[in-house]
Amino acid sequence: MADKYAVVGNPVAHSLSPQIHAEFARRTGQDMLYTTILAALDGFRAAVLKFRDEGGKGLNVTLPFKREAWNLVQSHAAYALDANAVNTIVFRNSSMIGHNTDGIGLVTDLERNLQFPIRSKRVLLMGAGGATYGVMHPILDAGPALLVVANRTLDKAVRLVAHFQKFGKLASGGISAKPYADLAHMQFDLVINATSASLNDELPPLPGDVFAPAGLAYDMVYGKLTPFLRFAREHGAARVADGLGMLVEQAAESFFIWRGVRPETKPVIDLLRREAEG
Ligand code: NAP
Repeated sequence: MADKYAVVGNPVAHSLSPQIHAEFARRTGQDMLYTTILAALDGFRAAVLKFRDEGGKGLNVTLPFKREAWNLVQSHAAYALDANAVNTIVFRNSSMIGHNTDGIGLVTDLERNLQFPIRSKRVLLMGAGGATYGVMHPILDAGPALLVVANRTLDKAVRLVAHFQKFGKLASGGISAKPYADLAHMQFDLVINATSASLNDELPPLPGDVFAPAGLAYDMVYGKLTPFLRFAREHGAARVADGLGMLVEQAAESFFIWRGVRPETKPVIDLLRREAEG
């Protein structure tokens, strides 16, 4: 019988994860079945335990349950611990191990797919929500020259930066939290939009001169030219990219954790890109 996996969220019907994992399984010859689980907002724990008790091997966790998953698992793998969020669960005997693959997904997309090494680059990360917590540690491990976190609610960015400093995570030129207004006259080689503004076709209040020549603007939202990516093009960013590659790369890391096999990601990114462009 095929090994069972699923993504649990609310809502979850829109998730591309079943298609991505089905492609990975087909291409690597893994006998597995990957479905979706819609959990009630107060029913995450019950949904996870039921899936495990029915023989499930592992889960992906999406909004709004990543923090609850972090609290539920008994142990945290490297990047999950300081991310305060878990997006991948492995069931081992009666215990659950939590991983966070979002940051690895982002860094792999930037460095391998987009050929944009983070080392020695000036990086601006917009947003201080779950996505930012998830990617901070892997970005810092990639060795940026400096990392600035900007957020509409400054206090959240200040707390986030303090959290990672407490874990001993630093960039050579420092990490800091700033309001958007303080970014005027600063320039960054890499500007990452980790806010949810693009989901509502909104643009964070970003000064127009933040994009260094030869810089890259990256939006974690995928499937469309977002207001941020349009703004970046109009204000001198040499390259723009959406978060489709990150989505596929974080899935590939989960797949590797579960199956011990690394799937090829480019054909899957290309497939989803063709489908999105219709
Ligand atoms: P979240 O925890 O709800 O945080 C949302 C963040 O966006 C907050 O920092 C919020 O600022 C900011 N924000 C929202 N609207 C804004 C606006 N109009 N202007 C400026 N800032 C605004 O969400 P999340 O979990 O971090 O996710 C963020 C985004 O990343 C989502 O769109 C998600 O789809 C995407 N994501 C993509 C991937 C991928 O694989 N591609 C993976 C993970 C997440 P305040 O604190 O001021 O409210």
